[in-house]
Amino acid sequence: MTAPVGARPPLQYLHEELDKLKEMKLYQKLRILQGEQLPVATFDGQRVINLSSNNYLGLTTHRALKRAAAAAIKTHGVGSGAVRTIAGTMDIHMALEEQIARFKNTEACVVFQSGFVANAGTVQAIFGENDIIISDELNHASIIDGGRLSKAERKIFRHKDLDHCEEILREVQNRPGHKLLITDGVFSMDGDIAPLPQLCDLAEKYGCIMMVDDAHASGVLGPAGRGTIAHFNMHGRVDIQVGTLSKAIGSIGGYVCGSRDLIEFLYHRARPFLFSTSHPPSVTATCQAAFALLDSPDGEKLIKKLWANTKFFKKRLKKLGFNTGMSETPITPLIVGDAALAHQFSRELFQEGVFAQGIGYPTVAQGKARIRTIVSATHKRKDLEQALAILERVARRLGILQ
Ligand code: PMP
Repeated sequence: MTAPVGARPPLQYLHEELDKLKEMKLYQKLRILQGEQLPVATFDGQRVINLSSNNYLGLTTHRALKRAAAAAIKTHGVGSGAVRTIAGTMDIHMALEEQIARFKNTEACVVFQSGFVANAGTVQAIFGENDIIISDELNHASIIDGGRLSKAERKIFRHKDLDHCEEILREVQNRPGHKLLITDGVFSMDGDIAPLPQLCDLAEKYGCIMMVDDAHASGVLGPAGRGTIAHFNMHGRVDIQVGTLSKAIGSIGGYVCGSRDLIEFLYHRARPFLFSTSHPPSVTATCQAAFALLDSPDGEKLIKKLWANTKFFKKRLKKLGFNTGMSETPITPLIVGDAALAHQFSRELFQEGVFAQGIGYPTVAQGKARIRTIVSATHKRKDLEQALAILERVARRLGILQ
């Protein structure tokens, strides 16, 4: 069937929306990485110091992980061929889950295809219409989407504001239904750490299920990178721990750790587990090698280097006069306020040899636009010195630094 002559193509409104983004200077072209995700890498034909990747420990290109992936292809093939609940549960899937459960000091673990679906699939599976989700305002989009899909009532507390959180908990304490208190362990756009001990106290006081998304803390914070729960010694006080295999672990995927009942329930009810094919063997083997590395002296060295780089870089950024917000981890935002200015800052940095992504609304609040920098264990000191010199030069030119 052809459209009637003169009719507007049905997707024309998308073109108009894109034009609006272009007018507001918020339209972004994808940067294309040529070759490996390295601390100095080639994007769009230009060699740049890469401050945009979540590859905290440099594991995306680690030799032991590559070897493990290649070996798994030989023994298990390139695909799993089915969803987990039909024919797609392989021996190595189970071995990885046991390994992660041990690493996180929990009874059991289930791996999902991504961190996003680990959060969204879990929240949707275990909460329903009559339940209440109490969530930090800066929690990740996957938590927000999981809440929406669950149809539970959602209550948002101001970022890390424990008084506001308790006010909400008091308000709903006599209401029926399950209550979930949920927070990111490390916040992805600001790099600050959740006040986990106090949140756990509140969860216990008001009878809530406690859930933490540790996507940016696993492999980064706590002994051997075990995450915020280990960092604060909160073992046994967090019911649901989510992590990702896509950041420090260097591959792709997400996981949920908790009690055996929680994991078995997710086997039966988490929609991404039930309806989407499981990881290929190479991904699973890569992750097994990554967790083995974290628990070895080499892993310890990498985490030490990550924190040494983080401290050095942050100190120098602050000395230059950048507004680095509340950051306490390798994620350091340079907040400039205006979104168009943040994107211009990012573009000019790129031209001069630094890749730091500009981020504006709706990823962060209006007026809080920024570039986000992330250092890794594999940046050399001279890369960071050079990046700092370029950041200073461009920021002065744009009036971001006086
Ligand atoms: N949670 C947080 C806090 C994140 O920053 C991200 C990644 N942006 C995710 C979950 C999703 O992880 P993945 O990339 O593995 O889907």
